[in-house]
Amino acid sequence: MSDSKPVRVRFAPSPTGPLHIGGARTALYNWLFAQTQGGTFLLRVDDTDHARSSEESLNNILDGMRWLVMDWDEGPDKGCDFGPYFQMQRMGGYKPRLEKLVAEGRAYPCFCTPEQVQEGRERQEKEGGRPMYDRRCRSLEAAEAKSRVEEGEAHTIRFAMPEGKIVIDDLIKGSVEVDLAEIDDWVMMRADGTPLYNLCSTLDDLDMEITHIIRGEEHFVNGVKQVLLFQALGHEPPRFAHLPLILGKNGKKLSKRMAQTNLPDYRDQGYPPKAIVNFFTLLGWGFDAEREIFTMEEAIERFSLDKVQKSGSILDDEKMSWMCGVYIRNESRAELLGHVTPFLVAEGLCTEEEVAQHRAWFENLVACYQERVRTYGELPPKVVHYLRGFEDYEPKAWKNLNKKEGTAELLEAYKESLAALALPPSRPDRLDEADTTVLLPTDKVEEVPAEGSTPFLYPKHIENAAHALAKSREIGFGQLVHPIRAALTGSAMGPSLFDVVYLLGREECERRLDRAIAALSK
Ligand code: GLU
Repeated sequence: MSDSKPVRVRFAPSPTGPLHIGGARTALYNWLFAQTQGGTFLLRVDDTDHARSSEESLNNILDGMRWLVMDWDEGPDKGCDFGPYFQMQRMGGYKPRLEKLVAEGRAYPCFCTPEQVQEGRERQEKEGGRPMYDRRCRSLEAAEAKSRVEEGEAHTIRFAMPEGKIVIDDLIKGSVEVDLAEIDDWVMMRADGTPLYNLCSTLDDLDMEITHIIRGEEHFVNGVKQVLLFQALGHEPPRFAHLPLILGKNGKKLSKRMAQTNLPDYRDQGYPPKAIVNFFTLLGWGFDAEREIFTMEEAIERFSLDKVQKSGSILDDEKMSWMCGVYIRNESRAELLGHVTPFLVAEGLCTEEEVAQHRAWFENLVACYQERVRTYGELPPKVVHYLRGFEDYEPKAWKNLNKKEGTAELLEAYKESLAALALPPSRPDRLDEADTTVLLPTDKVEEVPAEGSTPFLYPKHIENAAHALAKSREIGFGQLVHPIRAALTGSAMGPSLFDVVYLLGREECERRLDRAIAALSK
């Protein structure tokens, strides 16, 4: 292939199931390569497996690609010169060329029944050969074959494999010598007249002027068949690049048991797509020796196929999760809220209108949990109590309430101390100005505004007041804080307690303290 041709690559999924991690990585590498080369990335739907193809799967694949923010230049939904982009709609172009190959002796009709093919295979194996089609129809006289075809005898069309060896110059695997005797005279067209993958794919790649075929390692042998077919058709084949397998942590081929393998599951659980794209980009390629977090713009500047590793790449789901956490931490509060809102709404915790109406409060709420989640989907269960209250104390929280004698009285004293503080009111009567104070996770606050400079006390001031109370009662801070947290949240864990107090507001804190006091006196 001459390197001066404009680069055209394709992702050619079969819409027979949801978008798989491996497919998403293939699409991504094609997309990245097109971007680096100023080339065209097209999407072709390999839907010739009519029985297993469905519109649902196709939509799932397209949605998954859009979710990963990979757009295609040509494809089913974009009118372009090389269409149609559904293989089923391209059938008309296959038959005449297949007939020409038969006329030239590069392919031949095979009249063997499946049983005969099987019997031939077994016999060859018994005789110490490879279990392959015994090629008996290949030696039929052309005239005899022709007349049997014309008489309507059932037949497939097989490719007549040449003899010898071929060297495939793969852009990732390097030069690989293949003994052609190892490959069957493969079927190009079934007896019912439907063409098979290697035929359709080659003709479409040819007609769509594909310059580089980038796809998973499992297609390497198909690559050999396709190179031979390109040559038989009198064309130079495109360049091939077969990506390393994606492996599970045990080094074996990734399976559903080892990790979540369908992309939609990641989306539905609220993994940040930018983190996923970053992570997938590293499944076979490295940005540099130090950096693992980078933008796609940065990746485009550096990506090259010859730097893709040959050996399998391990999908480490813990690392993926870590990376998601990094991306979430780097989001602005507004972005985070935008991403989390659909999950809050789906859980029935609030409506989009409520979020829009009380944006500042919701931003404060999600910001307090920003460091504590790795997916957007993890956030709703953590904040449910602000929006819905809680039913029971978690066992550990209940233990914290009951650890010491006199906790009810301590909670009473805390409640009284709150009365003297300028706390913001609780929802739904909370005023917008309460949340003009921007909450950061307390340990990130560098400068606390002076007391009195904000309409309501800042969480740090609420914390100072609690310290004063602990001091006056001569108890450790923990002794005060643990039961209060349990009383206010029903849980033993969470973000800074004084952010919680601030977010809940005065009336709700009082209500929850009263509830704990009552529960303790039972
Ligand atoms: N439809 C094939 C698949 O999904 C395409 C393989 C190729 O890229 O040629 O595996």
